[in-house]
Amino acid sequence: MFLAFDDTDSTKGMCTTFLATEMIRAIDGLDLIGLPRLVRLNPAVPWKTRGNGALCIRFGKGKGRRTLAGRIGRKSIFSFDRGEEPEDSNDLFSIGAELLSNWSRVEEEASPGLVMSKVKPSPAIYWQAVRRVIEREMVENELDRIGARSIGLCGGRGIIGATAAMSWVPHDRTYEVLAYRKRGRWGSQRKITKEDVKLLDERFPSTFNNYDHDSDAVAIAPHSPCPILFGIRGDKVEDLPMAMASIRSEAKDRWLLYLTNQGTDDHVISVAGGLDPGSTYRMSGNIVRTPRTLPGGHVLFQLSANGSIVDCAAYEPSKGFRGKVRALQEGDKVQVIGELREQPRTLNLEKFELLELVDLKEKVANPRCPECDKSMQSLGSEAGFRCRKCGRKEDRSKAEFASVVRKIEPGWYEPPVCTRRHLSKPLKRMVARHRC
Ligand code: ATP
Repeated sequence: MFLAFDDTDSTKGMCTTFLATEMIRAIDGLDLIGLPRLVRLNPAVPWKTRGNGALCIRFGKGKGRRTLAGRIGRKSIFSFDRGEEPEDSNDLFSIGAELLSNWSRVEEEASPGLVMSKVKPSPAIYWQAVRRVIEREMVENELDRIGARSIGLCGGRGIIGATAAMSWVPHDRTYEVLAYRKRGRWGSQRKITKEDVKLLDERFPSTFNNYDHDSDAVAIAPHSPCPILFGIRGDKVEDLPMAMASIRSEAKDRWLLYLTNQGTDDHVISVAGGLDPGSTYRMSGNIVRTPRTLPGGHVLFQLSANGSIVDCAAYEPSKGFRGKVRALQEGDKVQVIGELREQPRTLNLEKFELLELVDLKEKVANPRCPECDKSMQSLGSEAGFRCRKCGRKEDRSKAEFASVVRKIEPGWYEPPVCTRRHLSKPLKRMVARHRC
């Protein structure tokens, strides 16, 4: 039986993943089948609180191999490979609904939703919800079709995210271990040893997005007053508990492993037709206007792709990444990935690949007069040359040119860790040749 929920938190507190740990704690008679799923949805959705994450947990009577998936207080949490459906799911739904109502920050604009179903909704719901903005009606129709039970509070918009999380069938996946704080410390400054975080990449190469070396900042801990102490992401689930244990920190209240779509680029649409703001696109083309820096430090260039001109932007917070963008030139061929914003209408770069460099030439010497063998005089940047001695004229093309040495090589480039999106696939996870 799948139980999914979303939209329980606010910027002032809570976290929907914490509710997942509370559900597992409270639902005693049933086992966890597989790992709980933390599913990120379209990052461009305007009403998200932070990372647009929704949760789905499968409960049942556990069968087969069991592995440690977490610890809540003194209790070890195990996850089973497979399971049988519970005989009675009424309790599951009522416990879920009660916890949803107890923990959701409805007084701070949360709009929680809970969905329970034996059958998964169509994966098409996930693909729509991770890439576009979807209508509640479409979700409700699907829930009716599969015979799901649902409950929403304060509008219940969370039913959309909950249904989408339940419908996720991974084709690519990563894992995250989330460690939670003792309740008395919620809202206070987190105590985490920076040096331990710095070593994560080296000690556990299967983990990613741990430390931002550009800004010398820990990237595994949130800045909000939520219950999370830190989260470590990686490709090998078996490495994560050890990675977590390697971090000296304040006491943990609980921890749990999640299967996630983070770092998969599932949100990226390969452009085939028109572009609608509110989605993230991948497109290739030629730069038709060399990057320029705007007041405020944002860097903008124009790309000609799929028959239209798109303004691509690297905003100020992306820091050193902007230097790579500035090194691009008119005529370069690039592949870009970014979210299309409505106002101003720009493609906000998540990463780019420099495919081909234009052969940029610069004048290194004026031509010599074919009659007198003297260096000719320039008549201005567009006007050509004249021999001072015999008055002969030559056009600009007769000057001596050399290729400009470029400050960038073909390959992939991405912004620093702290400014990456949860769904963005880090270059570390990409098989293609890349440069950081
Ligand atoms: P978290 O803090 O858990 O990372 P979040 O708090 O940023 O996530 P929510 O508070 O869950 O985000 O708010 C997102 C809301 O948007 C939810 O109500 C969800 O149902 C809804 N939603 C998510 N994706 C879509 C989508 N593609 N189309 C329409 N609604 C969506």
